[in-house]
Amino acid sequence: MRRVLPASVSAALAALLAVTAAGLPACSTQQRRSAELSLANTLIPPEQEKQLGLQVKQELEQKQKVRYVEDASVNAYVKGITDKILAFAKKDRPDVEWTVKVIDDPKTVNAFATPGGYLYVYSGLLLAADDTAEVAGVLGHESGHVVARHSARQMVNQLGVQTVAQMALGKEPGKLSQLAASLAGNGAILAYGRADESEADEYGARYASLAGYDPHGIATFFEKLEKSEGKQPGWAAYLSTHPATPDRIAQVNKYIADEKLGGTGGTSGTQIAAVKARLKTLPAPPTQPAQPDQPQQAQEPAGPGGTGAQ
Ligand code: ZN
Repeated sequence: MRRVLPASVSAALAALLAVTAAGLPACSTQQRRSAELSLANTLIPPEQEKQLGLQVKQELEQKQKVRYVEDASVNAYVKGITDKILAFAKKDRPDVEWTVKVIDDPKTVNAFATPGGYLYVYSGLLLAADDTAEVAGVLGHESGHVVARHSARQMVNQLGVQTVAQMALGKEPGKLSQLAASLAGNGAILAYGRADESEADEYGARYASLAGYDPHGIATFFEKLEKSEGKQPGWAAYLSTHPATPDRIAQVNKYIADEKLGGTGGTSGTQIAAVKARLKTLPAPPTQPAQPDQPQQAQEPAGPGGTGAQ
């Protein structure tokens, strides 16, 4: 039953194995990232990512009964941020068509992205943010997961190169729908590892800075998470996938300093204050949407959330 992998897959795999074997500390992270990325590019073509993202969206809407915020001013605020951030993400991944949705759920602090360029942010996260730079940092982080193709890389890690290669060749037709259902059901996406989260933090800070926002927004948001840990159940979804540890905060601050990332925009807090006031006037969601990333027995929030942003 040995199947021969396509040459391009073998080449990407060989590159990855070479990097793993070499294990040079000085440049290993960059080398590993780029080798994994080329493997993911080869195994899971953008078309397939797009299809997966669409299927996850349908699952969220139809099975998880996720509702979106319809308010024009709230959506315009989020679009104003993502338009600026995604202008830079598009340079790194020109093949992605982005879709941004605000999930109507004021009690949940979370955001996540799925393959194919779908970014979801909960109204609860907007209510928890103190300024626009924080929202920009979080959304930049989420877009970073898409740009770096972390879910494709996770799929390769979890399902194995052979299965993913078969999927890529169209030989596992049922697998994709199965995967989409499980991603949506479990919290939209697989939980990412620490290395992927750090890489996404770097994207978040970089894109926020390029877009003119203070790149420290992501760090101040994490600081708040760290302080509130265990005290506010609403934060659990995001924390479950984004452990806001002091070293993570220090790491992103160091990255901002090392890369000399500038930007001072989005720190006044007036814009977000208006959005929060607006959100508070909106009627409560008709039925509490099922939390893709929280267990059904409330009280004990924790969750794959993999989302989180992923
Ligand atoms: Zn993340």
